[in-house]
Amino acid sequence: MAGIIVQKYGGSSVADTESIRRVAKRVVATKNQGHHIVVVVSAMGKETDGLLNRAFEVSKSPSRRELDMLLTCGERASMALLSMAIHELGEEAISLTGSQCGIITNDRHSGARIIEVRPIRLQDELEKGRIVIVAGFQGISYKKEVTTLGRGGSDTTAVALAAALNAEYCEICSDVDGVYTADPRVVEAAEMLEAISHEQMLELAAHGAKVLHKGCVEIARRTGIVLYARATSKFGGGTRIDLPGASENVDAVGVSGQKNLVRLRASGDTCLERVLTISERANVPALHLDTDMNSADIWFSLDDIPDWIGVKGDLDADIEVLEGVGAASVVGDNIGGDSAKLNLARSVAQGADINIVAMSSSPLRVTLFCEQSHVDQLVRSLHKEFISKAYAEA
Ligand code: ADP
Ligand code: ASP
Ligand code: MG
Repeated sequence: MAGIIVQKYGGSSVADTESIRRVAKRVVATKNQGHHIVVVVSAMGKETDGLLNRAFEVSKSPSRRELDMLLTCGERASMALLSMAIHELGEEAISLTGSQCGIITNDRHSGARIIEVRPIRLQDELEKGRIVIVAGFQGISYKKEVTTLGRGGSDTTAVALAAALNAEYCEICSDVDGVYTADPRVVEAAEMLEAISHEQMLELAAHGAKVLHKGCVEIARRTGIVLYARATSKFGGGTRIDLPGASENVDAVGVSGQKNLVRLRASGDTCLERVLTISERANVPALHLDTDMNSADIWFSLDDIPDWIGVKGDLDADIEVLEGVGAASVVGDNIGGDSAKLNLARSVAQGADINIVAMSSSPLRVTLFCEQSHVDQLVRSLHKEFISKAYAEA
């Protein structure tokens, strides 16, 4: 069989009929170069947000299971429409759900992890010469429940399929040309990276750079699948995720911002046990944990807790809840091990008159937590100091 290429198109790339037609042409053009094509699609435009809003109109605290049932409809609609658009171009295509593609996950609704991919049905269709269109962001648990992979999870569907099919490469096609040194919508001076290591990309993705979903970078790192972040409007180019960045002499590689965070604080002898029990019961990934054993803080992203109103309602009255917070992170080799860099990050925030409510570091990252409304300004200030200056000097 000829080589397989997996392409993923995000919501803005399939937002309306014209965009779907453009994507269909790009897919057929790639097939005509002599490849087998698997296409993963997201829901059209802001459809997932629309479905979520509809759910909250009906119920203040919908169950995660029913939310998963609802949200997977968004991707189903776009896969069927893209398949129809490809038929119109005279090519054979078939749309398949995550479950039909054998994407098996654990049973954590609203943020499931892929355990195994058994793409037998998909391979059959490819062998018949068809273009296979797959609904992103979804799978089926071993209990036969429909699950979703968390916001932005279609990227992860694409790389998981690429790995299972031993594809030549996987391209995540979006409304940006590739991975930039910061969100180009926030930082005008952001520059596109030709390449970035898996580790650095993981840190950026896990801390708000939504150009790639964290899960997709994890799978690419584990399986060695060649991964590109590219523009839907072009062929080729973009950022390759695996090689060290082009500017190896520049310490910091990127700055990311994250909004919609929440901090829970417990006090007293059992503070740590209490915050960890909350996190375990609510079954959500913690972003950051900090304690001196008299007081314990745990941070979450509300994107991971669609039923936050219910979770919050179950908290004991003495748990302190801080909402409306966010964070800005600088990622680069050994940044967290360099006290001068940590102090520089702190002083950048001070210089911008931004109050820091917490700070954390790992070998590749420093993160400053602040009020949500200050995140963009902090990202711009950190980018100016850590990236723009270094590029100018390099
Ligand atoms: P899609 O709908 O195609 O999945 P997303 O909205 O999830 O696209 O991701 C693309 C967006 O990610 C861009 O429009 C951009 O605003 C944002 N973004 C955040 N950080 C970065 C970054 N470092 N490089 C490029 N884009 C970024
Ligand atoms: N449609 C889902 C979301 O908006 C998944 C994705 O776009 O990857 O989060
Ligand atoms: Mg996305």
